[in-house]
Amino acid sequence: MKRLIITIDGPAGAGKTTASRELADRLNYKYIDTGTLYRVVAFEARFAGVSQDDDMGLENLCSTLNLNFVKDGRGFRLLSNHSDITDQIRAPEISMMASAVSARPVVRKYLMDLQRNMGRKKGVVFEGRDMGTVVFPDADKKFYLDASQKVRAIRRYRELESKNSQTLEEVEREIRLRDENDRKREVSPMKPADDAVIVYSTDISVNEVVDMMLDYIGMGK
Ligand code: C5P
Repeated sequence: MKRLIITIDGPAGAGKTTASRELADRLNYKYIDTGTLYRVVAFEARFAGVSQDDDMGLENLCSTLNLNFVKDGRGFRLLSNHSDITDQIRAPEISMMASAVSARPVVRKYLMDLQRNMGRKKGVVFEGRDMGTVVFPDADKKFYLDASQKVRAIRRYRELESKNSQTLEEVEREIRLRDENDRKREVSPMKPADDAVIVYSTDISVNEVVDMMLDYIGMGK
């Protein structure tokens, strides 16, 4: 059967990660969370003292990134320059910094090439903000997953609950700010591709979302 490139874009907390992972599992595809890549750049820039508007510093940093994904149960551990930073990149300050560095064309260009390379063999579900619009404009199937701001904040809060001490209000504020940055930036703003199917997950479970996606792809039960 033909192997596809499937893209799932949308704002923070819309359920992209769970849906993409489940969809990839059911299709026996690879799954790539591209937000992780922006988080790594943010983390390493912070570590190296490179500011979010220092384009030359960011370009140098990108060209020396050394990333490895090591399988760990159902997921992966992320090694950057040999250190395990899987949990650290989820910290709220890294989320905000990721949103800031993601507006820089030098960073987007570097990561776009990397992502396209990762999709070379097809059979991949890519999750992000500009997967269907910019990175894979010719993707076989495109989705844009959205939900009300309140529901997205609650989901993100529950996901992070065991890992940090943010209140629900702080999480809601953070995702509102990030979404605004991501929507308003000049390069690759977050928006649905013209040919994307828009799925609202406010009132439905991830399983239902994935069933709908599989039906649309023509691989449902
Ligand atoms: O998906 P996640 O919340 O981990 O993404 C972190 C940040 O990375 C987003 O707020 C966004 O600024 C950026 N990002 C992006 N393009 C992507 C994926 C993520 O700009 N394809």
